[in-house]
Amino acid sequence: MQSAAVIDHTQRDPYQVALEQFDIAADRLHLDPNMRAILRECQRELIVHFPVRMQDGVVKVFTGYRVQHNTARGPAKGGIRYHPSVSLNEVRALSMWMTWKCAVVGIPYGGAKGGVVCDPKQMTSQQLETLTRRYTTEIALLIGPDRDIPAPDVNTDAQTMAWIMDTYSMHQGHTVPAVVTGKPLSIGGSEGRREATARGVVYTIIEVAKHLDVDLEGARVAVQGFGNVGSNTAILLHQLGATVVGVSDVTGGVYSAKGIDIPRLQAYARETGQVAGFPGAERVTNAELLELDCDILVPAAIENQIGETNAPRIKAKIVAEAANGPTSPEADRILQDKGVMLIPDILCNAGGVTVSYFEWVQDLQNLFWREATINARLKEVMVKSFNDVLDLSRKHKVDMRTAAYMLAVQRVADATLTRGIYP
Ligand code: GLU
Repeated sequence: MQSAAVIDHTQRDPYQVALEQFDIAADRLHLDPNMRAILRECQRELIVHFPVRMQDGVVKVFTGYRVQHNTARGPAKGGIRYHPSVSLNEVRALSMWMTWKCAVVGIPYGGAKGGVVCDPKQMTSQQLETLTRRYTTEIALLIGPDRDIPAPDVNTDAQTMAWIMDTYSMHQGHTVPAVVTGKPLSIGGSEGRREATARGVVYTIIEVAKHLDVDLEGARVAVQGFGNVGSNTAILLHQLGATVVGVSDVTGGVYSAKGIDIPRLQAYARETGQVAGFPGAERVTNAELLELDCDILVPAAIENQIGETNAPRIKAKIVAEAANGPTSPEADRILQDKGVMLIPDILCNAGGVTVSYFEWVQDLQNLFWREATINARLKEVMVKSFNDVLDLSRKHKVDMRTAAYMLAVQRVADATLTRGIYP
């Protein structure tokens, strides 16, 4: 495939993007200036630099962060990512988005996020374990089951959470499963947590399809990203009868107008480590994937993917933000003018943290639920939250992102006001 598609890598600063999104909602809500000043800042920001002995004996010093944006509604909650482009402002933005995400779906948490600047693809499992354990020790002054509860994010998984849980528990002198979520089942993880973000994304897509009278059977879908969220979303949509025409990962993507056999692609990706080169499909770049002729576009990778350059060329009628922060405010306006229905990240991908909440509750009670119960409760939360946001967007004649922010910001502002300012 030959095209001029490019991703707008003028790279908006994610924290500026988060603040702009917040300001739009705050204006609409006529939010009190004092409240606005409180909510625009992150409550706690920890930067750590720590040494890790690499296999060749060389010591490498890594930089990591843990930021808690807000804890008015409960303990701080949010994932930890390992990526070369992690920065303080990215972690700030992601922690603020967690605050709104937890508020939109009404779970009793504030927002946090963590990250380590590293390239996990170049590291051995042993190095990743050492890095994870030392990073955990460095942020131990912030985390805890009723203080701040990490979870997986980009390039971290259940094994990473097991190392964090074990390290924290060793320091405490007893096992503390509820300090992280997204753990393996064998140590207090929850049924359904791994697929939860994707499942939540799909529940919101089903709701939006009902609302717009789109038949998901045969609807053409493109998914950017083939990590935990992207791959599971592609599988679930494929199972629902949608035609997944395009899929990509960091190395590039594949396209087939007839539709891609997703279970076979998954097996291929597991074997080769990438989706590119999948037999019977055309090669596309990540930029081209976003502009494919399709009905539903699911960005499931990282921030800054849809900007003012490529937004006018997006053909999908529905954009479901499985990733955090994929769309800039400029692009939001362009998509809105084009009549695209966008399901914003803080709503669309909230299924992950919702089942994290279920996992935490199960750990604290030492009582575990069946997968059917988890999925039913997740569905209830996602469907209700989607419709709450849709109703608000109609009532105030605003786009879905602004409506989701209005709902979330109001809830956090109410909690802050009710608690009062200490001392
Ligand atoms: N990292 C996920 C997110 O961005 C999950 C966070 C969590 O479960 O705490 O929502």
